[in-house]
Amino acid sequence: MSIAGKSVIVTGASSGIGEATARRLAGAGARVMLAARREDRLKSLAEDLGSDVHYRVTDVTNHDDMLALGEATIEAFGRIDVLVNNAGYMPLSYLSSRRVDEWDAMIDINIKGVLYGIDAVLTHMLERGEGHIINVSSVAGHVTRGSSAVYSGTKFAVRAISEGLRQETAGKVRVTIISPGGTKSELGQGIKDEKVLTEAANRFNFRFLEADDIAASIAFAIDAPAHVGVNEMIVRPLEQEF
Ligand code: NDP
Repeated sequence: MSIAGKSVIVTGASSGIGEATARRLAGAGARVMLAARREDRLKSLAEDLGSDVHYRVTDVTNHDDMLALGEATIEAFGRIDVLVNNAGYMPLSYLSSRRVDEWDAMIDINIKGVLYGIDAVLTHMLERGEGHIINVSSVAGHVTRGSSAVYSGTKFAVRAISEGLRQETAGKVRVTIISPGGTKSELGQGIKDEKVLTEAANRFNFRFLEADDIAASIAFAIDAPAHVGVNEMIVRPLEQEF
């Protein structure tokens, strides 16, 4: 089965890459369950995309919310073919700035959120003997810079968790890691460290990807024949050096 007819959960669907992914997959005939915290965004996106797109307000850091998301998707569409674990948070800062609440939130959203997503679908997928889990890491999951110590730590973790999952479920569940480079979205709005904000203009002075460029990579991985595991993709803007 290609994208058409597949039942797909997209977390972080209220903006950026998640929204673009939901739009692209729904446009290709998938049935999509949108998940994020901002209900107004999810509601208007679902209305825009039509009756095969549902939404559920979900906080990925809440295990019960994530289990309920999985159950709601099975109730709505009969099964879960694909989970796109995309929700994320990137308040870059220097460790010496001591923004400990932001460290905690990144660990909760970017690591625990991905684990809770896996937990919400894995038993179902293993029982069916098929499924596809796509985890969004980052170039920061391959390269660490001064102000990205914690964010990179979470994104390295996403890659480690994904590889462990791939080995554990080989032959049954397809596992894909997508590592975007700089992409237009709301992600940068999380940065509050003044030093990082000052540096950002010089650091990110190249043409960013469109969110749909990453959505297209996600669609490519889903559309591959069932025996093909697209395990990892790094997709950078052409001008991005790091
Ligand atoms: P956005 O800020 O535009 O989107 C982030 C999404 O995550 C929003 O939909 C937000 O929804 C959701 N989210 C955040 N916290 C939670 C939570 N606790 N529960 C549920 N949903 C949550 O950024 P992007 O689209 O850029 O980010 C998507 C992914 O791509 C992230 O994992 C990010 O780390 C990764 N990435 C992005 C890059 C970029 O340059 N843009 C580069 C590399 C990786 P809401 O607030 O409504 O809950």
